[in-house]
Amino acid sequence: MSKFLKRSAQGAGVPHEKRTSNLETVVMPLPSKIVLSMGQHIGAPAAPAVAKGDQVYVGTVVGKAGGFVSSDIHSGVSGTVDSIVTITAPNGAAQTAVVIIPDGEQKVDPAVAPPVVTDLKSFQDAIRASGLVGLGGAGFPTAVKLAPKNLDEIDTLVINGAECEPYITSDNRCLIEDTHFILGGIKAVMKYLDIKKCVIGIEGNKPQAIAKMKDAIDMPGVEVKELPCRYPQGAEKVLIENCTGREVPFPGLPSDVGVIVMNVTSVAFVGKYLETGMPLVTKRLTVDGDIVKEPKNVEVIIGTPVQELLDFCGGFTDEPGKVLYGGPMMGNCIADLSQPVLKNNNAVLAFSKKWAHIPKATNCIHCGRCTNACPLGLSAKEIVQAYNDGNVELLQQLNADLCMSCGTCSFVCPAKRPLAPSIALAKIMMKNGGKK
Ligand code: SF4
Ligand code: SF4
Repeated sequence: MSKFLKRSAQGAGVPHEKRTSNLETVVMPLPSKIVLSMGQHIGAPAAPAVAKGDQVYVGTVVGKAGGFVSSDIHSGVSGTVDSIVTITAPNGAAQTAVVIIPDGEQKVDPAVAPPVVTDLKSFQDAIRASGLVGLGGAGFPTAVKLAPKNLDEIDTLVINGAECEPYITSDNRCLIEDTHFILGGIKAVMKYLDIKKCVIGIEGNKPQAIAKMKDAIDMPGVEVKELPCRYPQGAEKVLIENCTGREVPFPGLPSDVGVIVMNVTSVAFVGKYLETGMPLVTKRLTVDGDIVKEPKNVEVIIGTPVQELLDFCGGFTDEPGKVLYGGPMMGNCIADLSQPVLKNNNAVLAFSKKWAHIPKATNCIHCGRCTNACPLGLSAKEIVQAYNDGNVELLQQLNADLCMSCGTCSFVCPAKRPLAPSIALAKIMMKNGGKK
């Protein structure tokens, strides 16, 4: 029996603020340039496959995958390569990027054509060529995910349509607007990986999306599961438990319990790619926050500078205190608005200084809320104490490395202690053998 509490009963009731959920996606016009980072995924960075002055087209490969766990990078514009530069990734690391100036013609690369898929191998090859990575935020190369070592033990595909982070509604719009592609992608994954069952998990605060998907399902073995509106329903282990009743062991992967999880936007892309052959060059994002003048769901070319995206949404109504890639619970700060939109971004949120103000932390009152709320049953309070004491052995015993930085412990702490950021530092310390 697991020593952890039932994950689906944990988490927090965060304010959802999904005010863009009814806003249809609008397409942003061409930006002045695109900046394509070679590190938009987990794994080895891609290597630039073009040089300054090269002509590229929509769909041209501009970065070649740097290994098995890696991904190609494609241009979303036709134009000329302006430069190869170094930018700062959201995690602070230096990253090579290809800068392209659009010519406005949007000519498509002649190599772009629907892939010929006849079996598992050609399906996996097509997904690899598409440049798809986990679009829910993880950025894990999908071709690797769809090639588990124990494929014959996989019996269930779980589609993550939970979208539990406050403000973000891009997956909701995908469920409503791209229903056809979602089902096309699900059918292909089930067919080529020989998976008999699919559960599409959607939080109950998306009634239109739930109704649309239920209505559209036209094959046996696929069902919609309405999930509780409790953060973080989209966390992989919580989602699997709620959709299948199976508990992923520690340490362990979804495939250990016969499951592959895909984000709804990723599976929609699979459906679209099989029909069109256009690689991953655009992304739907929610742009919102208390100082964004015109919140929107926007389809944007990957590599578009964040500043130009924000300008398209009317700019700011007040001085920003914080601009984020992603949601307020798990998002990363964007230090420089010239940074580009990345493949795995699902939102850009901008908040005022008042909203972004971090309250002063006070002493722990030993209330236990952080432990009760953690979907992994971790004791945030004890982990942070062990980090402060530099006690790596205790951090290992407390399974600190399992923390997924969901932020739930920080959110529920009445003493406003920055638990999740401290645990992130604890994980770095563990990797560094105890050095802070
Ligand atoms: S941030 Fe880590 S410790 Fe805190 S609730 Fe999430 S998984 Fe648990
Ligand atoms: S929630 Fe905050 S105050 Fe309560 S035990 Fe955890 S760290 Fe201490």
